[in-house]
Amino acid sequence: MNAAMLGLYVHIPFCQSKCRYCAFYSEVVCERDTVEVVSAILRDMERYDVGDVETVYIGGGSPSCLPREELYSIVDFVSVNCGKVTEFSVEVNPGQVDEEFLKGLFDRGVNRLSIGAQSFDNSELEFIGRRHDSAAIEKAFDLARAAGFGNISIDLIFAIPGSTIEMFGRSLDRAISLGSEHVSAYSLSIEPSTPFGRAQVEGEIVKVDETADRAMYEMAIDRLGEAGIVQYEISNFARCGFECRHNLGCWANDPYIGVGPAASSYYNGVRFSNVADVAAYVDGIGGGESVIAESHRPDTKEVACETAVVNLRRRKGIVLDEFKSRTGFDLLDIFGDIVERFVRNGMIVHDDAAGRVYLSKIALPIADTVICEFANF
Ligand code: SF4
Repeated sequence: MNAAMLGLYVHIPFCQSKCRYCAFYSEVVCERDTVEVVSAILRDMERYDVGDVETVYIGGGSPSCLPREELYSIVDFVSVNCGKVTEFSVEVNPGQVDEEFLKGLFDRGVNRLSIGAQSFDNSELEFIGRRHDSAAIEKAFDLARAAGFGNISIDLIFAIPGSTIEMFGRSLDRAISLGSEHVSAYSLSIEPSTPFGRAQVEGEIVKVDETADRAMYEMAIDRLGEAGIVQYEISNFARCGFECRHNLGCWANDPYIGVGPAASSYYNGVRFSNVADVAAYVDGIGGGESVIAESHRPDTKEVACETAVVNLRRRKGIVLDEFKSRTGFDLLDIFGDIVERFVRNGMIVHDDAAGRVYLSKIALPIADTVICEFANF
């Protein structure tokens, strides 16, 4: 059984500009004093005992839009204070990197890069509000290899309004031909608070229909799998041994520390989120106050449900022994009826010999509707 490990997530709340579909909390970088925010993030990290952290992920927002010395100061803090780290990822945007910058990250201990490509189709990139083109993605990838990175992930989005299966197929092929070790592929979700959400209400854009969305997802599973980039989570694919350890920790329901505005944590048995407001975060940290906006200590039943829900995202699903030793509950005692019902309709596989319960291939495109049944007992 895998022992729980501790992760550290650093949220950089800045982007060069806002993409039209984005509902994440971030602000436009030129409108803020980044120095004071980075100082607050460093002080936030000092509040925790980070010596046992094994995986680190600096994401956002766009970490690569920070002035590089400021991003390096966060990386240096991790390298000095987190002696047990085996995987250290940083998200970067194509067009915001050069070889010197990437070499600086690599030399400071970052060993995994996640490139926010989203698409290799220039018209799609422009339409969703990205500031890079496909040539910039390929350049960023080559620069990362030249800087020493042997573990690079490419993020893709499918079901962009106006997209076709052929267009997404070409993006998949370009990601494969680059030789990336890892690919994340998410269906575009149109959130009401975003420019895309408003454009949809006005009838200016139309969501890709469910059949095409599903076909794109199934194509990702098949085409990446044929290239040896195998699905290990609903939206994540990797060559053997390159699965993202940090995210595997989240799907095992392991603890993690989140620092930065809007970052969430699961630490010492409590789930909590920092205030989603840069100014309030900086003032709170500066004044030595709590910056936690919400917190909740799940009871043992809630922990069991949360564990089932996140475990089911993994292709290996719920490992029954692991589930029992982590939660104290026998999965089939608490969810036996639900498991049986989904086994009968082909959505779940119960492999008795392997001691696992996992989503079947036909359940993957509608995974959320199956998984949500495990949210209570
Ligand atoms: S770069 Fe990422 S976080 Fe920033 S606006 Fe675009 S999608 Fe959102």
